[in-house]
Amino acid sequence: MSFEPRDPTTPPTPGQPPAESSRESPAGTPLPPPNPAHKRQTPLPVSVVHQVQDAVGKLLGRPPHTIRGLQNNIVWREGVQVMRMDLHCHTEVSHDCRTALRDIPGWLLRTNTRVMAVTDHDQFRGGPELQQLVRDLGLDDRLSIICGEEITTSEGELIGLFLQDRIPPKLTPEETVREIKAQGGLVLLQHGFDPLKRYRLRPEATERIKDDIDIVETFNSRLSRHHWNREAARWGEVHGHLPQSAGSDAHTLRDIGEAWVETPFRLIHTPDDLLAALRIGQVAGHWTHPVYAYGRKQWRTFNGQFRREE
Ligand SMILES: [Zn+2]
Repeated sequence: MSFEPRDPTTPPTPGQPPAESSRESPAGTPLPPPNPAHKRQTPLPVSVVHQVQDAVGKLLGRPPHTIRGLQNNIVWREGVQVMRMDLHCHTEVSHDCRTALRDIPGWLLRTNTRVMAVTDHDQFRGGPELQQLVRDLGLDDRLSIICGEEITTSEGELIGLFLQDRIPPKLTPEETVREIKAQGGLVLLQHGFDPLKRYRLRPEATERIKDDIDIVETFNSRLSRHHWNREAARWGEVHGHLPQSAGSDAHTLRDIGEAWVETPFRLIHTPDDLLAALRIGQVAGHWTHPVYAYGRKQWRTFNGQFRREE
């Protein structure tokens, strides 16, 4: 099924994040300044970057960018429309990823990935920008974008979902959790049990914040061994039957949707919507060895210089 994009002048719905970030932590103690290592990305809105890319492309005689692949791939299982949710994805806002935001909606429709959480490394703006793009295309009745961030704490990484604003890196895990909760967000523990993941949350820290973890990722497509996913599932069971999620940890467009939770189709607007969907969902995915995945990403990035992903 194909359809025409909606008039892009449609006014945005409320709930936009505040433009200016507050440097006060909820407890009132001032936060340390952001780590300069995480400011490598240009602070320009992605839409402006796209305009510059288009202008340069025009000068070089390249064909204009078009949003392709808006095939609404609806999947039914026993008479019920189902969807996939991928809660751990990176975009061009991450320093190590080049997936253009404007290529994502078409890919999501094509792969029936109706819910995607944008979790860029220590960056937040990709989520709101993708949400706006989805609204402008008139796709907000079929795709749900969750604004999140993969946050580097002083003892490894944690994901915050349903955030309103960026959370700076290098806070302690406890401070990070407090920031996420103060924004009404959910704490997701991703790849926490793979000892070869350099940035996994340290086991001592996991133990200290375990009561504040809302979701545990029990399928990550990029673990060194699939065995560690089962370890995560066991841990989630022991610690209060936590809702389980899946994350592709995608760093290229085609990796988005490689891991998923399948549920009947619904729109996800709030943390409660998501938790309810996860509780009835089925976790699944494709596991790829990270060394192979890295080589593939380099090839796709190189190849993408000459040919757009279809
Ligand atoms: Zn990640």
